Amino acid sequence: MPSIADRLKNVSIPASAAMTQRARELAAKGIKVVSLSSGEPDFPTPAHAIEAAHAAGLGGDTKYPPIDGTSELKAAIARKFKRDNNLVYDASQIVASAGGKQTIFNAMLATLNPGDEVVIPTPSWVSYADIVHFAGGTPVAVPCFEQTGFKLRPEDLDAAITPRTKWLILNFPNNPTGAACSRAEMAAIAQVMLRHPNVWILTDDIYEHLVYDDFEFCTIAEAEPRLYDRVLTMNGVSKAYAMTGWRLGFCASGSKELIAAISKVNSQNAGGITTVTQAAAIAALDGPQDLLKERAAIYRERRDFVVGRLSEIEGLRCHKPEGAFYLYPNMSGLIGKTTKGGRKIETDVDFVMGLIEEHHVATVQGAAYGMSPYFRISYATSMEMLNEGCARIAEFCKSMH
Ligand code: PLP
Repeated sequence: MPSIADRLKNVSIPASAAMTQRARELAAKGIKVVSLSSGEPDFPTPAHAIEAAHAAGLGGDTKYPPIDGTSELKAAIARKFKRDNNLVYDASQIVASAGGKQTIFNAMLATLNPGDEVVIPTPSWVSYADIVHFAGGTPVAVPCFEQTGFKLRPEDLDAAITPRTKWLILNFPNNPTGAACSRAEMAAIAQVMLRHPNVWILTDDIYEHLVYDDFEFCTIAEAEPRLYDRVLTMNGVSKAYAMTGWRLGFCASGSKELIAAISKVNSQNAGGITTVTQAAAIAALDGPQDLLKERAAIYRERRDFVVGRLSEIEGLRCHKPEGAFYLYPNMSGLIGKTTKGGRKIETDVDFVMGLIEEHHVATVQGAAYGMSPYFRISYATSMEMLNEGCARIAEFCKSMH
């Protein structure tokens, strides 16, 4: 039999996708499932973005696109970086890809040689380590503990960097913890990076607009302009504009060489981004931005509600984070207990499996994000669902003995 490539040995299907799939299977059997596993806004894509795509398609914008994004799209991205982050990039410093995920994938493929290390503050989005493995590199986790708000401590970062380190990946607001960094905290991280001139920094700012209680987002190239040439600032339209299905992400860097290398990878995989998606993204980036604040206010209300409800449950401890739409409750108080259905809870995997199978609430185990014993809840769903989900989690925990 022909065999599958070795490079896939360390690559897994995202745990959140696996849990969402299980939720769908149960729902198909007629079971009322509460799905808190998917990292996707429940809001619609703004109508003006859909209309722009429609007009582009009807106007004949249906041919092969330029591989790194149209000049109109790059101009809209440059305006976004200036408006939101006070960062100036020209078209040769910007490349767009089919989603934030592909942007990161292409950046790693363009730069990693076997043995290169990538420092990843952890808990972290499941895909970083898989992408690094895929590209032949070695992920190096730096723990960000609950006791310090799941933030990256500069001294821990410093200790993790070796002569083989090629990248640091930052993601604040963070998936799965929701932790975000203030300007001062980002400046402290930047200070460490100034001491390591051979390391690139990828900052995944996909949750930039999801910060609450007057918290001000600050990206690392803005916090420390001396890092401009070494920072790859990545963002996209998925989370901010509820456009996960359109598949568009982008990045910019002071290093034109890095951007050209990423563009070269683009040229041999996707070969460009769907034309009508580009039109929709321009409309979203250039259009009215009021929806960002309006939706953030709704997410904040949901966060406060769920943190309040989970904090009342014996055995759980729930940190209240600054941003994103995730919570990362600690379930160590339930370890050693047995569920009504006879499951012994020894790990966070046992916990989330018991919760989905016995009470039909889909969440994701902390183990998937590199720190246990926790589980991730996405509150990007209606208050009605959150209320029902919290009630079922409370019942599940209470019924254990
Ligand atoms: N980065 C982080 C931290 C994410 O959580 C996600 C999606 O869950 C992505 C990137 C992917 O974004 P996109 O939909 O643009 O590929």
